[in-house]
Amino acid sequence: MVVKSVSETRGVAGADIRGLREAMRGQVLMPGETGFDEARRVWNGTVDRRPALIARCADVADVQRALGFAVNHDLTVAVRGGGHSVAGFSTCDDGLLIDLGLMRTVSADPDARVARAEPGATGAELDRATQEHGLATTLGVVSTTGIAGLTLGGGIGWLMRKHGLACDNLLTVELVTADGRLVTASADENPDLFWALKGGGGNFGIVTSFEYRLHPVGPTVYGGGVMFAREHRRAVLEAYRELTRGAPEELTTYTAMTDGPDGTPVAAVAACYAGDPAEGARLLDPLTAAIGEPLLDGLGPLTYTEQQSRMDAGYPRGQYHYWRSCFLDDLTETVIDVLVDRASDIQAPPALELIVEHMGGAIAAGDGAFAHRDAKYDILIAANWTDPADQERCVAWARDTAAALEPHSRGGYVNYEPDADGAYVPAAFGDRLARLGAVKARYDPHNVFSLNQNVTPAP
Ligand code: FAD
Repeated sequence: MVVKSVSETRGVAGADIRGLREAMRGQVLMPGETGFDEARRVWNGTVDRRPALIARCADVADVQRALGFAVNHDLTVAVRGGGHSVAGFSTCDDGLLIDLGLMRTVSADPDARVARAEPGATGAELDRATQEHGLATTLGVVSTTGIAGLTLGGGIGWLMRKHGLACDNLLTVELVTADGRLVTASADENPDLFWALKGGGGNFGIVTSFEYRLHPVGPTVYGGGVMFAREHRRAVLEAYRELTRGAPEELTTYTAMTDGPDGTPVAAVAACYAGDPAEGARLLDPLTAAIGEPLLDGLGPLTYTEQQSRMDAGYPRGQYHYWRSCFLDDLTETVIDVLVDRASDIQAPPALELIVEHMGGAIAAGDGAFAHRDAKYDILIAANWTDPADQERCVAWARDTAAALEPHSRGGYVNYEPDADGAYVPAAFGDRLARLGAVKARYDPHNVFSLNQNVTPAP
């Protein structure tokens, strides 16, 4: 596809832009206009791109108009739900950014145990609507994150071992495909597309609504976290391995080599028991005794929405980030050695983090494009910094850590991996890639939706 910027074709596009503006219920923003600069920014401050136009869609018809405009003018298309892609996929230079942030209506039907959400909603907005009825579905562990990109890439979080990934809870997805049609995907309608949407990322169209299955959760869960001095990190990792090996599906735990509230390097365990809080206490309380005196013990009963938002403050918008990830079959002694070694560089600032996420449980039973269903753990290698001078060191630390783990792991998680011209795509999608390519060829043969961990249309 030939990509032109509107500025190169201003004479023609100027009139067309006015037409788009008049046709849309939402807003069309051009560079230099009030709000453009704020609207072009994404969560990761290292991503500093300038689209030619931003279409802030208010409804499905707006999405169809904006997409049609981009296709007719050979403009690169970027699609943004919550704008949290660490890789920076939800913006572009010179093209048309289709921003769904105005489309964020969420509703829950407690009798049917179904929630319907528009793609601009955040996890917090969906959780709030469902918890009103004592229900929830799996979402991520930072509640400001957008649900759209998170769900399409898989969606890992506190409920995943009991209720599957976020994408496993999808009942129906409505999307605008590259040719402008509004298509429904579900187990009964366009099942191949539905399969691809469950982990295949934003490759297949612009989702305008998601329907999720809900489960009774909370309002009180047993969760929170406990922090130990960094010197105890080997003991923490070993105790964590022990805990996870026998954990029931209700229990999801992470361990993190990170920095504490005052910047002290710590080894932490965070948990959520999505069942009887007393049982959660019985399983988690012995952890402290096994490791030693904690610096901070915040394990206990809390509401599910508190659990979902307790990490939000640590991940504000606009700071700088470079993340890598990998899935593991086991937390072997060798992997623990690598983690112990790499964590010795953690000394905030900058905020370097090694987070081990316990997978397993109900994830294995799900059907969909998410490739690493049988992995036991996922590791997120997160370099986060605020001083641009730290960039080189932080990126190098994350890359070196990923390289040290590579011989002991398999591909990474599409939603954590950076943009690397498709380098992470084969390992991230694994044996699902060929089938994804066939679905891509059917729904997006010209690769209009290319800003993602990109699946090439099968020939
Ligand atoms: P966006 O940046 O808006 O988009 C990401 C990708 O999805 C882009 O390719 C975009 O084009 C595509 N996309 C977005 N909306 C649509 C749509 N409506 N239709 C089609 N394609 C679309 N992930 C987890 O699984 N669990 C976690 O606990 C978790 N925690 C996180 C915490 C933080 C602080 C951050 C920054 C990320 C976290 N992630 C987590 C990763 C997260 O899943 C991704 O960042 C995801 O992209 C967020 O969704 P979004 O809608 O904000 O994405």
